[in-house]
Amino acid sequence: MKKLVEILSTYDLEKIFGHLHAGIVLLEKDGTLVSWNPAFEARVKMAASTRRLDELFPSKDREGIREKLSNRMQENWIGEFQIDDTDISVVCEFLLFPLPDERLVFIAERIESESTLKEVVEKLMRQVKLFQIESEFTKKLARNKQIEMEAVMVQAQEVAQVDPLTFLINRRMIVKELQDEVLRAQRYDSLLSVSVVDVDHFKAINDEYGHPIGDEVLRQVAHQLRDSVRHPDIVGRYGGEEFLILLPSSGLRAAAEQAARLCKLMRETVIKVKEHSVKVTLSIGVAQLKIGTDTWDSLLKRADNAMFEAKNNGRDCWIVVE
Ligand code: GH3
Ligand code: MG
Ligand code: MG
Repeated sequence: MKKLVEILSTYDLEKIFGHLHAGIVLLEKDGTLVSWNPAFEARVKMAASTRRLDELFPSKDREGIREKLSNRMQENWIGEFQIDDTDISVVCEFLLFPLPDERLVFIAERIESESTLKEVVEKLMRQVKLFQIESEFTKKLARNKQIEMEAVMVQAQEVAQVDPLTFLINRRMIVKELQDEVLRAQRYDSLLSVSVVDVDHFKAINDEYGHPIGDEVLRQVAHQLRDSVRHPDIVGRYGGEEFLILLPSSGLRAAAEQAARLCKLMRETVIKVKEHSVKVTLSIGVAQLKIGTDTWDSLLKRADNAMFEAKNNGRDCWIVVE
């Protein structure tokens, strides 16, 4: 295959040189500029007095350039060059190679102008800043989500613990409280009593007034119980029309007094629901924890048995079991 240069005419070469972006210069062996292509002419800052290649470089580099010329070796390096008629230097890749006739060819190809580099750096900085803002925003969003989640968790926890009809703690929670109180009483050898409270003939109330009125009656009974016990007693809805009262630090005497008070209170209360005046009574069974022998469920069982005894006793009364 024939070499490209052998095929190309002088005319072709001139056209090709005219299209190249790199500056190409023919130099005398001392660096005097002989001839150059249009790209070099257009880009390089050349004063009328400019005669030699080294004069186109910043003064700090000129000595080095003269050395390269006199070495007559093919050299390839990166350095600064002055282009246009501004004083701005650009970074170029240079190639210097000697020709057989002692002259030299010099090629300068611009790598990136500083302004372009600056633009790239600025663009990157803007992106970094944007990323920082975005990540701040994301962090804030995550924090808000976490707060929302925590609120939902708290709500879910409340829902899981509260009876939706009476807003007392539900069966699960009152049993958990009972278990905790039994453990505490056993650990500290302290008193603990439990009352099982059942509304008498509640079925009859539903039958007479209807279920929705029955609901409201239950709600009012629950609130009466809640508002009539003292700290640290705990009231919960154990099931249908049945409630549990835990009396930490109370023995049978105090628990019996409370049961008597609650029976009297309900007996004397008229529950108003819409146009109806409803009267209810309670049967209450009271038991005290026997340290060392009772578990939470054996204690509950004894209180429940006492409540059934109260039913058998004619209702509207309280029974205490040893
Ligand atoms: P006793 O004096 O023997 O306790 O009679 P009682 O009718 O109260 O007892 P029973 O166990 O036969 O019936 C309890 C009734 O309580 C039946 C049930 O429909 C009603 N009940 C339970 N939970 C609810 C509730 O949430 N709302 C209403 N309206 N009624 C309820
Ligand atoms: Mg009942
Ligand atoms: Mg019942």
